[in-house]
Amino acid sequence: MNNNNFDVIVVGSGAAGCVVAGYLAEHTNASIAIIEAGGKDLDPLIHIPAGFGKILAKDKHVFKNTTTPQHGTERRFRSGKVLGGGTSVNAMCYVRGQKRDFDAWQDAVDGEGGWSYESMWRAFIEQEKNDTFHNEHHGVDGTLAVQMPKGINELNQYCLKAFQEFGLPYNPDYNGATQIGVSPVQSNIENKRRCSAVVAHLRRHLDSGRVSLLTNTTVTRVIFENDQAVGVEVSNGSAKRSISAKQVVLSAGAVHSPKILMHSGIGPKKHLEDFGINVRVDSPGVGDNLHDHPIIPLSAYVTGNLGYQKVAQGLGTIKAGVQYILTKDGPASGNGIETVSYWDPLNLEGEPTVQCYHVPIISQDGLTPTGSRAGITFELVVLQPKSRGWVRLASSDPTEMPLINPNFIGHEFDLKVAVESVKSMRDVMAQKSLAPVIDEEVSPGPAVQTDEQIAEWVKRIATTMWHPVGTCRMGNDAGAVVDAHLRVRGVSNLRVIDASIMPNITSGNTNAPTQALALHAAKLLVADHFSR
Ligand SMILES: Cc1cc2nc3c(=O)[nH]c(=O)nc-3n(C[C@H](O)[C@H](O)[C@H](O)COP(=O)(O)OP(=O)(O)OC[C@H]3O[C@@H](n4cnc5c(N)ncnc54)[C@H](O)[C@@H]3O)c2cc1C
Repeated sequence: MNNNNFDVIVVGSGAAGCVVAGYLAEHTNASIAIIEAGGKDLDPLIHIPAGFGKILAKDKHVFKNTTTPQHGTERRFRSGKVLGGGTSVNAMCYVRGQKRDFDAWQDAVDGEGGWSYESMWRAFIEQEKNDTFHNEHHGVDGTLAVQMPKGINELNQYCLKAFQEFGLPYNPDYNGATQIGVSPVQSNIENKRRCSAVVAHLRRHLDSGRVSLLTNTTVTRVIFENDQAVGVEVSNGSAKRSISAKQVVLSAGAVHSPKILMHSGIGPKKHLEDFGINVRVDSPGVGDNLHDHPIIPLSAYVTGNLGYQKVAQGLGTIKAGVQYILTKDGPASGNGIETVSYWDPLNLEGEPTVQCYHVPIISQDGLTPTGSRAGITFELVVLQPKSRGWVRLASSDPTEMPLINPNFIGHEFDLKVAVESVKSMRDVMAQKSLAPVIDEEVSPGPAVQTDEQIAEWVKRIATTMWHPVGTCRMGNDAGAVVDAHLRVRGVSNLRVIDASIMPNITSGNTNAPTQALALHAAKLLVADHFSR
């Protein structure tokens, strides 16, 4: 990138940044730059669907962090740091959420900005290229590929049956009429390759030169003249420089967007002063309202060689890799997450409060395998957590990581849902299709039986589902960071467009909702400034 002056700078090339830059490239004549702290997405492991497990195990292409102590211990916390952000390292599961999630977004801004469930639904459909469902719930003309699993392994077939024996309906499409039930998993994979946000929305505009890309470059702060954003300061190691723009869009994700705002003088006054930062806008909500889906991994050994434990490690991985290279097929061509269930443990007919991926490996973090014995991990997830935490500065150096406190299971409601989910998961494992193949529960294990014992275990083990949101909350109240057009309150020409603007988390994985909200927000940006 030689130019030093753009109409729009997008900070961060993750789920939201790619959508915003791509939409601007297609619908305006604006000059656009996208600035990314990580490198290019050249690693083949990014593009091989099963590669994400290795990326996480080796801690490649991520910001490495831990949370502040949660119930006494720190938890591992990672987010994507590469072209594509989270969408280049995530598990690719495609989930939209529930109507009530988006109703709450609309309520947060008193109906302004068009954040209705219906308009968000239109955004999902506009972006989607579904390989299976051609009906009113799905899109086929978009660029974000969504596929059904190309096969369901034997262990997950038993899961499909056992959840039905437990009382849930089989639901072929949790992104359709209802989320309730046990289902095959929909994923952002096409032609046996990951469909990241770069692939879906950005690559063609990089190739044509329509969007300028700067990688391995960290935005340290936004530059202002009076209260108008006029560019950003960037750092490559020790070298610093500034790049000008008429509009700045922060799409650095729920940890980094609030951090950049705080280093730019926008945040809680006292906190900024503690770090010697001149206060431009006293905005107490910046960094607050951090929430994430806590995951409670319940695991059990299974009989024989069922599942993917062998394939996911050592010689098994090499064999799967060779098969993939030679035939583009086999276990490496999928994400290995083939079935999922959504339910309310206290009312099977009610809107789900729990999501559960049935991952056919033994895994502590839900994604990377542990040990050699075959097994399964039921990733129990509290879908609408009430716990709220924060992101705060740890240093006055903008290249340092901030403190992250997701406050996992910090609210009685979350604890109750989690405990009930463990109890009903044990009921599912006792059903006639699963019981014969379950050898032994590993975690929490048979010694943990009473509600109190389960609650203690839940607090000890709950960790990130990798879905941080909410730290630059959209709203009409004084504590909100951005308004209904995602403009940062108190300044002009600066927006936040990413997962951090969600007032409340969606009921499911957060990539698809982040891309949908980014499309909606990009349209607002164009209507406000670039109408042709
Ligand atoms: C391991 C993992 C597994 C996941 N699995 C799934 C899944 O299966 N399905 C799903 O729906 N969601 C999943 N997610 C969540 C999903 O990927 C995120 O919700 C989504 O990527 C958030 O989008 P975003 O645009 O807000 O931020 P991100 O995608 O995180 O993008 C932010 C970008 O900004 C860059 N950046 C940060 N700071 C700076 C700076 N100062 N200067 C320049 N660039 C900067 C980062 O490097 C990154 O590229 C997963 C996430 C992870 C990490």
